Amino acid sequence: MLSTMQDDQLSLAHLLRHGSTLYADSEVITWTDAGAKRQTYGEVGKRAAQLANALRGLGVTGDQRVGTFMWNNAEHLHAYLAIPAMGAVLHTLNIRLFPEQLVFVVNHAEDHVVIVDGTLVPLFAKQLPEMRTVRHVIVANGDPATLQAPDGVQVHGYDDLLAGQPETFDWPVLDERSAAAMCYTSGTTGDPKGVVYSHRSIWLHSMQVCMTDSMRLDQSDKALVIVPMFHAMSWGMPYAAMMVGTSMIMPDRFLQPEPIAKILAAERPTFAGAVPTIWQGLLQYLEANPQDISHLREVVVGGSAAPPAMMHTFEEKYGVPILHAWGMTETSPLGSVARPPAWATGQQAWEYRYTQGRFPASVRARLIDDNGEEVPWDGDSVGELEVKGPWIAASYYGGQDVDPDKFHDGWLRTGDVGKITPDGFLTLTDRAKDVIKSGGEWISSVDLENHVMSHPAVAEAAVIGVPDEKWDERPLVAVVVREGQQVTAEELREHLKDKVAKWQLPEHWTFIDEVPKTSVGKFDKKRLRSAHAEGKLD
Ligand code: ADP
Repeated sequence: MLSTMQDDQLSLAHLLRHGSTLYADSEVITWTDAGAKRQTYGEVGKRAAQLANALRGLGVTGDQRVGTFMWNNAEHLHAYLAIPAMGAVLHTLNIRLFPEQLVFVVNHAEDHVVIVDGTLVPLFAKQLPEMRTVRHVIVANGDPATLQAPDGVQVHGYDDLLAGQPETFDWPVLDERSAAAMCYTSGTTGDPKGVVYSHRSIWLHSMQVCMTDSMRLDQSDKALVIVPMFHAMSWGMPYAAMMVGTSMIMPDRFLQPEPIAKILAAERPTFAGAVPTIWQGLLQYLEANPQDISHLREVVVGGSAAPPAMMHTFEEKYGVPILHAWGMTETSPLGSVARPPAWATGQQAWEYRYTQGRFPASVRARLIDDNGEEVPWDGDSVGELEVKGPWIAASYYGGQDVDPDKFHDGWLRTGDVGKITPDGFLTLTDRAKDVIKSGGEWISSVDLENHVMSHPAVAEAAVIGVPDEKWDERPLVAVVVREGQQVTAEELREHLKDKVAKWQLPEHWTFIDEVPKTSVGKFDKKRLRSAHAEGKLD
């Protein structure tokens, strides 16, 4: 029997109309050299319609791809809304990709138009001649004359292009399963892999982001969106904000601790989201430049493990609770959120908050061991995490033959290793490729890092496995000492003694100025491993 319900399609055109009409007074606030530049959601709706008209004028039809090479700002939000709503596909380009990877993803997605921020023109222009399908470049917040384009490519100024365009657009009715946006991720091997989100997956994911057990965004919130819009759709915050009328503060290129502290003081956001390295940097800055940040009701942290020591400092010293979440580009990205069960208080609640979180109803999870067998959710058994759900990737762009190892019986293999409690809280011990195998046993690099970072003299610590004749592998700890502090390897070993099993205590330590970071601000263990292999890290 079929239902009697309407078959109404979940479309981002509807989200755009809804946000810009019902929450016409909510704001997107972009940080600039000259302070805050404000635009209401009502105006965002008009600019998005103008952008859609302009893109149509440039020949964008059907599901053509339109790339963005941009910081987080109002113009990027227009693109987030206009491109999918008109039926085209938004392709967010990571501005920190290696040049050859940038060229690869633009060519692979066959981007027809790219919108580029003025400050990023020099970076983009160098690669433009190799981008085979790009016919138009639109320069936002900058002078288009600074871009020397090859023959066959036209350059436009964003404001000039939009000027005079109608402020309404006849948004088409779209199939909710059609592509809305795409984002490339590193995958397991080889070239970057494209994840293509649908209108439906983004819509359902946005609803989840707003839910009480998740980020609980609502119209009274003002969210500082630090997670780049070019990385995993900024954790879904822009779309979720349009859904419920949350105002957004966009930091543009001002991502260092000092400007972030300034933005916090000037705009007093109630919510913010970023990877741990951003918050670690801010904490260090606040040590030297104290400032009240208790206007933040909560801060969401994910992308890599949130160190418990950092969570405690934020809450106990600054009155800001940290909400730990897990996800990946392939999971839209929200996969789990660590809001403790209602009954847990005190240290028990903290134990839940340290975890990567609990799965929402739409995300199913299982753990698979080395023999391909499912292991139980008993809080102890460890396996590779596989997930399934309406906002989880079923394949990469290009079909089932692209990196098929990432998929297993209709489940996504996350490459993350961990355990799950009977009530569905996930604790990740490692990425499969970072696991340290010592004498047949696994040592969790994340666990060691968290314990080392709980020492007050340590700013950052990254742990990798290094070859060992007797044990196969042993952990090597790369430590960044806090400015003005001193600590020795012996003192750090002493600090770990009551925290980890004796056989896990690392004997290899190295002190470095900075942990190398990936294009999205995570510890780059690949670079640490090759530095070690080349004898540059001992
Ligand atoms: P990349 O592969 O470039 O890092 P993603 O952002 O898609 O791109 O990374 C997803 C991965 O980040 C996850 O598979 C996991 O290893 C890691 N990750 C995300 N959130 C957390 C978290 N809260 N704790 C530990 N690891 C995390």
